[in-house]
Amino acid sequence: MTNQQTVPSVFVNKVHVGGYDRTFQAHQSGLLKKLLQEETGYDYDLIVLGGGSGGLACSQEAAILGKKVMVLDFVVPTPHGTSWGLGGTCVNVGCIPKKLMHQAALLGQALIDSRKYGWEYSKQVKHNWETMTEAIQNHISSLNWSYRLSLREKSVTYVNAYGEFVESHKIKAINRKRQETFYTAAKFVIATGERPRYLGIPGDKEYCITSDDLFSLPYCPGKTLVVGASYVALECAGFLAGLGLDVTVMVRSILLRGFDQEMAEKVGSYMEQHGVKFLRRFIPVSIHQVEKGSPGKLKVVAKSTEGPDMIEEIYNTVLLAIGRDSCTRKIGLEKIGVKMNEKNGKILVNDVEQTSVAHVYAVGDVLEGKLELTPVAIQAGKLLARRLFGGHLEKCDYINVPTTVFTPLEYGCCGLSEEKAIEMYKKENLEVYHTLFWPLEWTVAGRDNNTCYVKVICNKFDNDRVIGFHLLGPNAGEITQGFAAAMKCGLTKQQLDSTIGIHPTCGEIFTTLEITKASGLEITQKGC
Ligand code: FAD
Ligand code: NAP
Repeated sequence: MTNQQTVPSVFVNKVHVGGYDRTFQAHQSGLLKKLLQEETGYDYDLIVLGGGSGGLACSQEAAILGKKVMVLDFVVPTPHGTSWGLGGTCVNVGCIPKKLMHQAALLGQALIDSRKYGWEYSKQVKHNWETMTEAIQNHISSLNWSYRLSLREKSVTYVNAYGEFVESHKIKAINRKRQETFYTAAKFVIATGERPRYLGIPGDKEYCITSDDLFSLPYCPGKTLVVGASYVALECAGFLAGLGLDVTVMVRSILLRGFDQEMAEKVGSYMEQHGVKFLRRFIPVSIHQVEKGSPGKLKVVAKSTEGPDMIEEIYNTVLLAIGRDSCTRKIGLEKIGVKMNEKNGKILVNDVEQTSVAHVYAVGDVLEGKLELTPVAIQAGKLLARRLFGGHLEKCDYINVPTTVFTPLEYGCCGLSEEKAIEMYKKENLEVYHTLFWPLEWTVAGRDNNTCYVKVICNKFDNDRVIGFHLLGPNAGEITQGFAAAMKCGLTKQQLDSTIGIHPTCGEIFTTLEITKASGLEITQKGC
């Protein structure tokens, strides 16, 4: 049952605490006492609000640990009526369909490259939006089904209803038919995630779509304006352009706020060179429908953020990607005293994801100051369940979380941006190694030389430890993942240098970095 091969092997109410050391630790931290004094008399040991990445991970782990668990998941349809099944943002309207559409766009590029590699085809190649969306939506439906099955197998009660606190240990669940049912639990986890924000200008909710609508849009969006300049905006703009559409990105201020700005600009300039138009320092003021249809025609009026300039233009689709609001304002938190940041609705928690109310916890995108990423929500949810019910002590480590922006040229990073590193450690204490590179696969294909770029930021006064890792190139996500594990182990520049590369790959570039930014030496590459 436990894989523990030593004695003692301690269980409390069916929960395996561990051997002597783990039991002693649990005693010292007060966990043992908590396990022994568990409250009873509630319908459930744990109720989780939200069946997305964090909520599903937490509820299933708690059930594996022998607890009676309920998870509530409810999707409020978008203003256009789009809705979806179990699994939350990532599965239905986030990572999964986004990456698959990114792949569809990459395949288009591969088709172009293939001619240089000798592939001959005579038929005109074109993309069919409906075929792509249908295939992606079918895959998503299979995931929705497998999540339901997985909950059933683990005996987690799944209720398709909107949850709202009515008392400290009681929630009201409202289903699609507006029927209300009440449930009580000893503990609660809030994992209700976020939904796209609207501009609050005439015509936005009536005529604009968001990422919640895009991935299941039943028709090709046509000429598209993407408003916003962060992850969602650039990724969507990237794959839409890659599918051959006329795409413009309206940028209020900078690209990819919070990311290394040198890298962000390189992401943007690659997109610009490959057909995406950027309208910098403009914001929309109104959207009017000029023609109905699928897609119809929309007139967008926008104003400059720097002066009196106004512009107007006709698009088939306007995609708003201007950020997301936490789903925390309508779940009765005020009734039970859970504190949040009133400005952005984010929930305040301590380092064990506990809110201001002792038996109420929160994980995932609803958390104040944490990264909004699926693996972060999953890790936090799983570890929370293990701490609450499994006698574990491990906390979620939010430091050095790797991420990748799946733009046409992918950008992967881990650790600090150069700006943040300078702010924290001062420029003179850092050494930045960098180079441009030309992936081998791109050479024969005749694709851009000296466009892909890597940068490693080291702390000179801590053994040249790598504190920032940045990569702009193909398969950046795959490469960054491995280096993130190395950074977790305290990777230094010397260790990078002593690592033997795998040739010919893009990743090997990190094992041969010699040129420092401070030297000002040429970084353009001439050959293999
Ligand atoms: P969610 O997954 O959003 O789940 C919350 C669930 O709770 C939803 O199903 C919601 O409908 C439900 N709910 C809300 N209120 C209630 C209520 N009162 N009662 C019952 N149910 C309720 N992350 C990555 O790591 N990689 C990516 O490539 C990536 N791409 C993304 C692309 C897009 C377009 C978007 C929008 C996001 C992307 N993300 C990506 C972020 C990722 O999707 C989120 O970080 C992750 O889904 C957060 O999980 P969560 O459990 O906090 O919330
Ligand atoms: P975001 O990071 O909050 O960015 C919002 C963008 O919209 C910014 O560029 C912002 O510009 C702009 N904006 C905000 N209000 C605006 C307005 N009124 N008019 C015009 N522009 C406006 O939001 P997001 O891109 O939706 O991403 C949300 C989260 O999802 C991210 O934090 C990320 O963690 C997650 N995500 C992850 C991935 C991935 O892992 N690959 C992909 C997608 C999303 P300013 O800079 O001027 O404020």
